[in-house]
Amino acid sequence: MVERVARLRAPNPSAMTLDGTNTWLLASRTGEAICIDPGPAIPAHVEHIVAYLRENALVLRAIALTHGHPDHVPAAPLLAAATGAKIYAHRFSAAPHDANLDDNEELRVGDLRLVAIDAPGHTLEHLVFYERESATLFTGDTILGTGTVVIAPPGGAMRPYQATLRRLRADFGDARAICCGHGPIVTDARAKIEEYIEHRERREAELLAALGAGAQTIPDLVERIYRDADLRLWAAAARQMLAYLLALEEEHRVTARRLERAMTAREQAILNPDWVNVVGAEHAPLVEAELGAQLRLDTIYEYSLSRR
Ligand SMILES: [Zn+2]
Repeated sequence: MVERVARLRAPNPSAMTLDGTNTWLLASRTGEAICIDPGPAIPAHVEHIVAYLRENALVLRAIALTHGHPDHVPAAPLLAAATGAKIYAHRFSAAPHDANLDDNEELRVGDLRLVAIDAPGHTLEHLVFYERESATLFTGDTILGTGTVVIAPPGGAMRPYQATLRRLRADFGDARAICCGHGPIVTDARAKIEEYIEHRERREAELLAALGAGAQTIPDLVERIYRDADLRLWAAAARQMLAYLLALEEEHRVTARRLERAMTAREQAILNPDWVNVVGAEHAPLVEAELGAQLRLDTIYEYSLSRR
């Protein structure tokens, strides 16, 4: 199906990365290659990529980054040093890179034609790629093979994310496959994008219905909407709720009122968990990056539907 695309999975499985980060290698007919998301700086993973290139007689020309999270980019300088490939990223990317890729810009390597698509949402500096020859979409953390994506402020934003999904449906719904940042290859691109769009709409409707039943804090909303999930997911869910609420506030559909009291321990555990305790020291930095933990939620707000 995507015969010129290979997946090398990084050995970094976790709740955030599913079975590990997918590193994608695209081979041209002339023996040149592009690597999308070289992954974490795990030496064995970098060696695996280099060995794959050598065994398949491929010369790596370009390393393309979907976004700057620590499970996607730290191997890039190592792989660049080992191969001489240039690193390409979004113009807002803080990751070291040699060249920016703008929206609709095409990176050509042999007969590979990799188009960059500005895809804000999961982060502001997220790129999705579309390879024209194989009609394959590479979505990074914008669409995953299983489950849903974390949209957490301050890096993540809900309305830009939804606009990105709608654009992907309109322009790339006919892609032959989606190669995601984590999880299996998706062969029905349009159905997967639809599913993602509907999931976000459904969650927002649940949130609005909960607010319709009376003012609520984020921990209240999480307990109501994500009743069955465990505490780790509740903390992620809290950040998703925040992303919706920020959008709804900006649209004057929801009003926030600051509560003049200290947070309870339960609220603290949902809004600002001690990640080292919850997921362990090894996984905490990635979870903190993915969930925007640098944004401490130190005041508790009560949200209600705006009166029109
Ligand atoms: Zn990410």
